[in-house]
Amino acid sequence: MARQPAPLCPSTTAAPGVEGVHLTGVVGSDGRVANLLTPLPVDDAFLAEANRHGTPERRFRFSAPCVEGRCENWQAGQGGEGGQCGLIGRIRTHVAAHAPAEPPPAGLQPCAIRARCRWWQQDAAAACAVCTLVTYNP
Ligand code: SF4
Repeated sequence: MARQPAPLCPSTTAAPGVEGVHLTGVVGSDGRVANLLTPLPVDDAFLAEANRHGTPERRFRFSAPCVEGRCENWQAGQGGEGGQCGLIGRIRTHVAAHAPAEPPPAGLQPCAIRARCRWWQQDAAAACAVCTLVTYNP
């Protein structure tokens, strides 16, 4: 049986050394992320140019394979089996508490990584409803 590709973290840093990083979105002037229809591989030249204008993660969204237990947001399952990302739950709670008047999106926004997205796999449309508000903030 073919091995499933690793789930993707939809909001990661693009620091040198992070493997498999792709540019997946651009933060608009309204603070919301507009997803690219095609993820773009990130190379050192892009990062060097992007860093000349400030922290790239404040202007772009990047994805990379979820590193699970090597991430501080990972919550291991019972007995070390399974587990999940704790970040999306905290983001949803934060948005519900601080932006209750925020109208939910009418539908799912285009997303090129949805099928492999860790947050989608956990929370489905509820994750997508807050995803465009998220910027990685080192
Ligand atoms: S545990 Fe969550 S925040 Fe950490 S790499 Fe995986 S998806 Fe990203």
